[in-house]
Amino acid sequence: MTEKMLKFIKIDQQTPNKRKVNKRIDDFEEIYDEFINEKAKEQSSRCSQCGVPFCQIHCPLHNNIPDWLKLTAEGRIKEASELAHSTNNMPEVCGRICPQDRLCEGNCVIERSGHGTVTIGSVEKYITDTAWEKGWIKPIKVLKEKNQSVGIIGGGPAGLACAEELRKYGYRVTIYDRYDRAGGLLIYGIPNFKLEKFVVERRTNLLKASGIKFIQNIEIGINKSLEELKKKHDAILIATGVYKAREVNLPGHNLKNIFPAMEFLTASNRKGLGDKVEKFDNGILNAVNKNVVVIGGGDTAMDCVRTAVRQNAKSVKCIYRRDRENMPGSAREVRNAEEEGVEFIWLSNPKEFVGPEKISSILVDKIKLGDPDSSGRKKPELIPNSTFEIKSDLAIKALGFDPENLPKLFNNQNLLVSKIGTIKINFKTMETNIPGFFAAGDIVRGASLVVWAIKDGRDAALSIQKYLKHKEINKIQAA
Ligand SMILES: Cc1cc2nc3c(=O)[nH]c(=O)nc-3n(C[C@H](O)[C@H](O)[C@H](O)COP(=O)(O)OP(=O)(O)OC[C@H]3O[C@@H](n4cnc5c(N)ncnc54)[C@H](O)[C@@H]3O)c2cc1C
Ligand code: SF4
Repeated sequence: MTEKMLKFIKIDQQTPNKRKVNKRIDDFEEIYDEFINEKAKEQSSRCSQCGVPFCQIHCPLHNNIPDWLKLTAEGRIKEASELAHSTNNMPEVCGRICPQDRLCEGNCVIERSGHGTVTIGSVEKYITDTAWEKGWIKPIKVLKEKNQSVGIIGGGPAGLACAEELRKYGYRVTIYDRYDRAGGLLIYGIPNFKLEKFVVERRTNLLKASGIKFIQNIEIGINKSLEELKKKHDAILIATGVYKAREVNLPGHNLKNIFPAMEFLTASNRKGLGDKVEKFDNGILNAVNKNVVVIGGGDTAMDCVRTAVRQNAKSVKCIYRRDRENMPGSAREVRNAEEEGVEFIWLSNPKEFVGPEKISSILVDKIKLGDPDSSGRKKPELIPNSTFEIKSDLAIKALGFDPENLPKLFNNQNLLVSKIGTIKINFKTMETNIPGFFAAGDIVRGASLVVWAIKDGRDAALSIQKYLKHKEINKIQAA
């Protein structure tokens, strides 16, 4: 702690009056900024600038991490931010929510040698937040707009990243989204305590100011057909994400107060955004004073348990059929949840929801892990006669998501999809089997990460640009 911070604590202990309080807030902000600034510099200067940058290799965007750490250590924050933006459309978002322990930070050479990683994500967040505060981040100025236009279905990170890159090339871009706000899961999935909503809105407002058109509350396939979109635009990107919740079809699944994760999280996020949410306001989707049980072991489950804690639930439990070592969610998220008082019941599988009308408890079987299955993960096996009961008046199902049936929704059976419903593309060009139709993000990969969606969006923009150039040349030659 710096001398200035110690001084601040002393001032803070004095009896306040209004003028003093205001002065103290100013002092605090100044000292806090300095503290964060020093912390970022200190962390950045820990980077050993090793010969093989494993952090960069393991970042899906291959961000030039060593160089922006060096610039930050030297106090050259504007340049660091410009470098961060050269490979990433939302560094402040990734800095906040990437599972760094599995990506850049998990592969930091200092971490591997047992000395604790350079906190790359926090530095990335710091330099970009500073750039926003200082007004260094400006809308795109298109000097000569091109005649061709691109329609993007879905305003999540994949769609937004693609739109921004295409706008930089000078194309006219329209994003169509079925939600009332842009941002996809950044707005309605990921909770505010991990990613503040103003951070997402700041980005979408920048894109609007850059001339990208947003049409909200429009579901392609229902309110507008794919054919209509095709007539309007020279190329289309499908970036619709995956939203079909996996079900737990157990006896008692029709009881009241059992909800899919997205319904619970969307209600909470809408409340945070100031919306009126009837089911939350009347207590149904509010965890306050309830015994909450979340079923699942991925990051969505972690978001649900941590949201329930913040809503002052009486107790929060998470049941997962494998053990801590074999769970899909980030280890850091589990640690955070445990620190906040969440109880994990490992190696357990729900058997039945119990209750007269509303759920009152869940019967659960104990599990042991058997031999690895075809995916290489140990197979969960039920232990006979091991059933026990967990009290629950709110159960949340967080077992993951699958794609919706897009060929059916789009009324286009020609669109090739995989067995699980993800769109098949040529990974070199991001193009689907229908010429001029590209796809990116979760709808291609299955439920994945924001950083991968951004990467896909950028790759798709590059290919769309090439496609449109060819189209233009062919048109000129044919004329
Ligand atoms: C609860 C939760 C927490 C998560 N936490 C993290 C995290 O901490 N870190 C991380 O990296 N990743 C996290 N993820 C994953 C991450 O959010 C996704 O991988 C990412 O958002 C995918 O981006 P996308 O653009 O492909 O799709 P989405 O973000 O899902 O956006 C798709 C958009 O398409 C729109 N759309 C869909 N169909 C249509 C249609 N027919 N017409 C018009 N619009 C349509 C939707 O309304 C939506 O806005 C989380 C996911 C969930 C569910
Ligand atoms: S984008 Fe994600 S993986 Fe890449 S440097 Fe930033 S936090 Fe790490």
